Amino acid sequence: MQAIMNTYGRLPVTFTSGQGSWLTDVDGRRYLDALSGIAVCGLGHAHPAVSAAIREQADKLIHTSNLYSIERQQSLAEALVRVSGMENVFFSNSGAEANEAAIKIARKYGHDRGIHEPVIIVMTKAFHGRTMATLTATGNVKVQEGFGPLLNGFIRVPYMNLDAIRNVIAANPNVVAVMLEPVQGEGGLATASAEYLQGVRTLCDDNKLLMMLDEVQTGNGRTGKYFCFQHYGFMPDVVTTAKGLGNGVPIGACLARGIAAETLQPGNHGSTYGGNPLACAAGLAVVETIEQENLCAHAQLMGEYLRAGFQARLASTGRLKEIRGLGLMIGLVLDKDCPTMMADALKEGLLLNVTSGNVVRLLPPLNVDKAEADQIIEIVSNLIAALS
Ligand code: PMP
Repeated sequence: MQAIMNTYGRLPVTFTSGQGSWLTDVDGRRYLDALSGIAVCGLGHAHPAVSAAIREQADKLIHTSNLYSIERQQSLAEALVRVSGMENVFFSNSGAEANEAAIKIARKYGHDRGIHEPVIIVMTKAFHGRTMATLTATGNVKVQEGFGPLLNGFIRVPYMNLDAIRNVIAANPNVVAVMLEPVQGEGGLATASAEYLQGVRTLCDDNKLLMMLDEVQTGNGRTGKYFCFQHYGFMPDVVTTAKGLGNGVPIGACLARGIAAETLQPGNHGSTYGGNPLACAAGLAVVETIEQENLCAHAQLMGEYLRAGFQARLASTGRLKEIRGLGLMIGLVLDKDCPTMMADALKEGLLLNVTSGNVVRLLPPLNVDKAEADQIIEIVSNLIAALS
């Protein structure tokens, strides 16, 4: 029996080290990483700025209680407020926990206004995490199966349908918030339009609801802006992020503004490790590196390069129906399911992933270069063209 609980269908490879866009396994074989630990290692593996920040912080201070002020946590909060335009931050250790904080803010916001059975509108095919509240918010029956009873207080509507949100609000005075991903990372890379997101913003304004964006996967430069909402010219009330924020060091953040920023008061919520100095040192190095190395613009450019490359290579095969996503969050929608694609790519020395059965998901590091992008295009196109 394996010593590790069997919760993942793991592929047969064991990695020992990484550098930039490349990973090395126990046998010394190198792999091109077009997945970045699922949008985590946006700066690539072993980025010197992040490694140095972790080393320096490890020698200085690894942990103090959140009963005291923590200097690195303050600095990262200020940096995130600066790059987002939000007002304040609650730190967690993961994306699910950042979303738990968002859900608690929404519920408390309702409670403070006399709504004691608050309802949060969530989306079909959403993914918000695997804790009980975020599992409830997630729109995938397969990951919920066997874990009931789920929580009360969530109503699901079809993604990208403003009328559906409008109808729920009209029928239910207890709605306090709308929670959604601007691009559904686990949900087939479905990408919300500007009109839809702006429409959700207006509906939230008109009905005094919190607009809460899950940018766990889309944040930290992934879509070509620091946060995805910055493509559209509006501000959400709550934004969550994680993954790319620590470049691999576990950290999550729930950012808020306006009334949402004032909702939680001392004693309402907490976390032993959230905002720990070691994780915040890594986070600060990430935010600064994304700015200094102009990685949002680079991600945008390389996203365009990869999309153009795939169009050119795959148009004639008839296999490629659509390219979804933004920036370096790329979903190649195929005309059929490709259940062995991930394992086949691994044999070719490439890491990628498939969601929704037929969407090949590519999330290379933000600083991927053209030679690496060419290799990704070559290997993936050959695999797609070879599908029977
Ligand atoms: N939200 C989104 C949009 C995600 O993609 C994920 C992870 N795939 C999560 C939340 C959960 O994050 P974590 O695994 O860090 O809890």
